[in-house]
Amino acid sequence: MSTVDRARLAGLHARERQAFLEARPRSRALAEQAAAHMPGGVPMSWMVKWPGDFPVFVAGAAGAHFTCVDGIDHVDLCLGDTGAMMGHSPAPTVEAVTHQLARGITTMLPTEDAIAVSSGLAERFGLPYWQFTLTATDANRHAIRYARHLTGRSKVVVHNWCYHGSVDEAFATLGPGGATTNRPGNIGAPVPTSETTRVVEFNDLAALEQALAHGDVAAILVEPALTNIGIVLPDPGYNEGVRELATRYGALLVNDETHTICAGPGGYTGAHGLQPDMLVIGKSIGGGIPCGTFGFSQQIADRIATSVELEEIDVGGIGGTLAGNGLSMAAMKATLEQVMTAEAFEWMVPLADAWADGVQAGIDAVGADWHVTRLGARAEYNFSGRPSRDGQDAHDADDFELQQYLHLHALNRGILLTPFHNMALMSPATTAADVDAHTEMFGACLKELFA
Ligand code: PMP
Repeated sequence: MSTVDRARLAGLHARERQAFLEARPRSRALAEQAAAHMPGGVPMSWMVKWPGDFPVFVAGAAGAHFTCVDGIDHVDLCLGDTGAMMGHSPAPTVEAVTHQLARGITTMLPTEDAIAVSSGLAERFGLPYWQFTLTATDANRHAIRYARHLTGRSKVVVHNWCYHGSVDEAFATLGPGGATTNRPGNIGAPVPTSETTRVVEFNDLAALEQALAHGDVAAILVEPALTNIGIVLPDPGYNEGVRELATRYGALLVNDETHTICAGPGGYTGAHGLQPDMLVIGKSIGGGIPCGTFGFSQQIADRIATSVELEEIDVGGIGGTLAGNGLSMAAMKATLEQVMTAEAFEWMVPLADAWADGVQAGIDAVGADWHVTRLGARAEYNFSGRPSRDGQDAHDADDFELQQYLHLHALNRGILLTPFHNMALMSPATTAADVDAHTEMFGACLKELFA
């Protein structure tokens, strides 16, 4: 844990809250107005968790910046928590979407773009078949359904403190003695997660083997590096070990690349030659237009083809009326082909390294017991002085009060960090000046905090 003086932290936080109030009268007025018909004054409940007494209302966003309704320019290191990883409104995506908007948004019929998108995904991620959704959450749900259908088994294995969207099975944590318990804050769980899920720590192959040995696991749903409880990197050979155990025990391995796409154009899977049975991705691949997708092997495609009834296919729990619509297909085609390129990553990854170097310099200058972890175009600092080894370790290093202060300090100086943890993401539109602005802000913040 950090050795921050709590009284000092409280005093600084009060000062920043006041500064926030004073600088943002228009956001404040809109937040009050918004509260009339939206609880907390927000369209989606998480938005109440941003630092500051009300959320910042956005007037416009472009590239790696956004401007709020009070006219303040911000460097956006959150990028819609990866939805805008390719920058806000990338030109090729906007052009393709604009073209499609006037030609029909959704018809529940395929458009030609779907052919290019699916073949591009096959080439990028190495799995031959693809189906589409509107969110990564739905892609995960569908992957799990197919895995249960094909294996005839009921359980899903997930990592402790994982996040895969609002997927019921994944809202589980490790309880005493390795038991599965509902994650704290799990709202309206349909059944106790112990009925659906086995939880194992990241980097613990022995625990995974134990979980699989029950013989009831349909799918192992993983991020190949955890990104949602801070970043936790795999030990050498960990993902390969997961693959081997999945095969040995007859469970399907699903790699959720929604965040780990930051590792390169083929995600962590592509960068490390991993071989999942299924791969899920959403958010960034449509440049911000809602879309998600899951890919699978020839063998899975064959088994689905011979086991799903045509007559019931629209009511089987897989698919949705808006999924695969012309607008998301146009967005994905343009984004994948013209924006999310190998060259883009060659720009983004060194910037993330520069960001991490800047954070490290700030930490070193005050001797704080904090640590920076890097994952391609993404990096994150924690308050424990060493890399987290697993989800519990990362969870225990958290410090909500401190984090809220650091995020508000940054926001008051025109820098938006990913909420819920201390993460920054680079886009193709992010510049060295954006990174330098963070380095300067962070260094000054720590000097004052640890003075
Ligand atoms: N998978 C991962 C790894 C995620 O981080 C998230 C969202 N943070 C999701 C899936 C779900 O994405 P969405 O909320 O867009 O459905």
